[in-house]
Amino acid sequence: MKTFIQKLYATLAFCLMLTASIAQAAEVNIYSARKEDLIKPILEKFEANTNIKVNLITGKADALLQRLISEGKNSPADILITTDAGRLHRAKNAEVLQSIQSDVLANTIPEQYRDPAGFWYGLTLRARPIVYAYDRVKPGQLSSYEALTNSEWRQKVCIRSSDNIYNQSLVASFIAHEGEQKTLSWISALIKNLARPPQGGDRDQIKAVAAGQCDLAVVNTYYLGGMLTSNDENEVAAAKKVKIFWPNQDSRGTHVNISGAAITASSKNKASAIQLLEFLVSNDAQQWYAEKNFEYPIKPGIQASEILKSWGEFKADSLSLHQLGDLNAKAVMLMDQAGWK
Ligand code: FE
Repeated sequence: MKTFIQKLYATLAFCLMLTASIAQAAEVNIYSARKEDLIKPILEKFEANTNIKVNLITGKADALLQRLISEGKNSPADILITTDAGRLHRAKNAEVLQSIQSDVLANTIPEQYRDPAGFWYGLTLRARPIVYAYDRVKPGQLSSYEALTNSEWRQKVCIRSSDNIYNQSLVASFIAHEGEQKTLSWISALIKNLARPPQGGDRDQIKAVAAGQCDLAVVNTYYLGGMLTSNDENEVAAAKKVKIFWPNQDSRGTHVNISGAAITASSKNKASAIQLLEFLVSNDAQQWYAEKNFEYPIKPGIQASEILKSWGEFKADSLSLHQLGDLNAKAVMLMDQAGWK
């Protein structure tokens, strides 16, 4: 018969084993549309702080969403990290996300940058202003997205194609403020001013302005930040030939969008996943993550990086970004109708 001490040791050993297996089980799986080096260091910090293991799978935004859809309930993913509210809305509609409530997230992230029902949350902000060739264009000639349709900019504007979510969200914001008719007229006039058929990404539009193929382009801010600090000297040289103009400062403000995150419907580590999202809006994480991605912190009061500060302050459109998702289909339809390639 075992002595009392032996029993006590056995019980203690069992408890230790149990604790160890619980500690081992604490993990969270992320599908991220952000490149590994733009997020990995901050995840490592979370691992060190919490002992929760983070497994990261990176991929293209649309491919990751497709993967979530095809894996369904069997998906190992707990968190989806991706860009653009329009895309997060798409994931919500595809029923691969779940609604969560967190006081930390609700108290940190301004209301317009998260889903009203809690299906997705913004982590950083980006703007989509006008860039201009300052050797040929004076800022006094610019004012708004609407004014890009003026006859003085005939064949002078560059913008990427309409199948891009950033443009779809820009058009959706236009519909939300101005209605469908005005938006259709705006798009129709805008494409008449294009210097060339839409091609390439936002960086290519900046390069085209620098090369004199066009005078103006509409691009996301972080691409300019990335080019200015690029290892490729041609990108640096091109970026230095343009400046940012913040449009619609006398009206609704410059169009902004988010990078964000959501908990998947299939999540088996929900508590750890929520803990990670809450960590990503903490002061240190916000500072690092926004700076690394050349984006604006989503948390009010956190300073933007030096490079972003050098572009000056601007009035951002205060539209609730879930509307970009709600109006996406209409935006695509109007772009088609107007013939935006
Ligand atoms: Fe992008």
